Amino acid sequence: MKVTKRNLKISTLALEWCINNLGNPLKTISPTITLKHDKRVKNMYGFYMDQEITLHLSTIKNSRQLVSTIIHEYCHYLQSPRISGFTKYWKLNNKFGYLKNPFEVEARKFEVLYTEKCYNHILENLWWKILFCLFLQVHLLDLDYTSHPQPCLLFLGQCFVW
Ligand SMILES: [Zn+2]
Repeated sequence: MKVTKRNLKISTLALEWCINNLGNPLKTISPTITLKHDKRVKNMYGFYMDQEITLHLSTIKNSRQLVSTIIHEYCHYLQSPRISGFTKYWKLNNKFGYLKNPFEVEARKFEVLYTEKCYNHILENLWWKILFCLFLQVHLLDLDYTSHPQPCLLFLGQCFVW
C-alpha cells in the first residue's frame, strides 16, 4: 500500500475505534499513528513505541491488514501505555522469544477478536462513498441498474475494496 489520504483516513478511523471500544488507560493522551513506506522494510507490518504506532505500508497489502495491524499495535499501547514503559516486554521477549512472548500472544488475540468489528465500523463510516459510487454508476456512467445488475454489483463491490 502507498501513503495516501485514504489510508490515513482508514488509520485514523481505526485508532478512534480502538480508543472508544478497547479503552484508553491514559484518558487525555492517546497514541499517534505514523504511516511509512520504506522499501527496505520487508518483514515488519508495524511497531509500537512511546505512544506512537508506526505502520509500514511497504509490507501491508490491503485495508483489512492495515486495520488488524493497528489493533495489534494498540494492544501493545494498552500493555504499556507510558513512555519508556516497555522494559517488561523486553524481559518477556528474552525469556520466551518473540512468538511466545505473552505480550505478542495477547496482541495476536486482539487481532482475531476485533479486526472484523473495527473494519465493519470503518465501512459504515464511509457509506457515503459507496452511495457516491452508486450515484456515479447510475447517473454519470448512465448505466441502468435494473437491466445491468451485474456490472453495478461488481462496481459496488469495488467501492468496498477500493
Ligand atoms: Zn507485536
